[in-house]
Amino acid sequence: MSPLPSQPLLSVKNLKKHYATKFSLFGRATRVVKAVDGISFDILKGETLSLVGESGCGKSTVGKTIIGLLQPTSGEIELGGARIDNLSPDAFRAQRKRIQIVFQDPFSSLDPRMRVRDILAEPIHNFGLARNAADLKSRVDDLLDVVRLPKDAASRFPHEFSGGQRQRIGIARALAAEPDLIVCDEAVSALDVSVKAQVVNLLQDLKDRFGLALLFISHDLAIVDHITDRVAVMYLGKIVEVAPRGPLFENPLHPYTQALLSAVPTPTPGRKTSRTVLRGDLPSPANPPPGCNFHTRCPLAFDRCSRETPVLRSTGPDQMAACHLID
Ligand code: SF4
Repeated sequence: MSPLPSQPLLSVKNLKKHYATKFSLFGRATRVVKAVDGISFDILKGETLSLVGESGCGKSTVGKTIIGLLQPTSGEIELGGARIDNLSPDAFRAQRKRIQIVFQDPFSSLDPRMRVRDILAEPIHNFGLARNAADLKSRVDDLLDVVRLPKDAASRFPHEFSGGQRQRIGIARALAAEPDLIVCDEAVSALDVSVKAQVVNLLQDLKDRFGLALLFISHDLAIVDHITDRVAVMYLGKIVEVAPRGPLFENPLHPYTQALLSAVPTPTPGRKTSRTVLRGDLPSPANPPPGCNFHTRCPLAFDRCSRETPVLRSTGPDQMAACHLID
């Protein structure tokens, strides 16, 4: 594999996505859910960055904001050095080709009335990628081939396929636009364990073959370990730790990352792990705890944690964490 370039393909800067859910009589927001609350990260060309955390931490909102399904409250999103968060719909459509998404539920994300041929032809047609009808057919055939589905799949409907095969169709549809980046939003979470591994291997192969970058959004660290180059850990709308895969899995610095990893079964025979069970549930993003927003569940919390918000700071090469214990 060739070394990754240093210029980011995608750059997310201080991104916020807040929702007003209650208003006063005069229309002033009285309850604001801070789903994403000021996160920054880069993804290099050909790199896989995983965004991990519990359900409700804001990771899927990040993915949907990057592909333009949601409008950011503030912050900047750059693709190839140019901002894409402030474009007109027409200008954004041209950039949208470069970023595609694969959703968690392959059944509801595929139109049940369309044959696979038409599902795959749609982005090719929309982005004007085929020279003529023969080229369009050949592109559809190639896409089925790269996701390892038979050619006769083209004439069938989504309900005629298994969950894993439907997810392959979703991946082929994303590839049809010839993107630079694919956002995989819990893309394998709904699949059986063996099928999950096959789809992860397929994504890895496609990434290497086409030089794709992946934003792999997942709550499952065991799967992330198989596919990622770097990991960003999210808690309650903020990134609490970022590190390359090796250092993060071998020596996690943030107590939340340590707790998440303690729940991942280890394949190393004889290696003992002690499970950290987090107390309570994820607090509401409408009413986050003061100071370090993890302090209500952190087994290592001390006085300062409920008063002062820790800053994400460098802890080593390409590694950052936000915890007063690391100061
Ligand atoms: Fe735990 Fe305090 Fe560190 Fe937050 S700052 S993770 S509460 S030790």
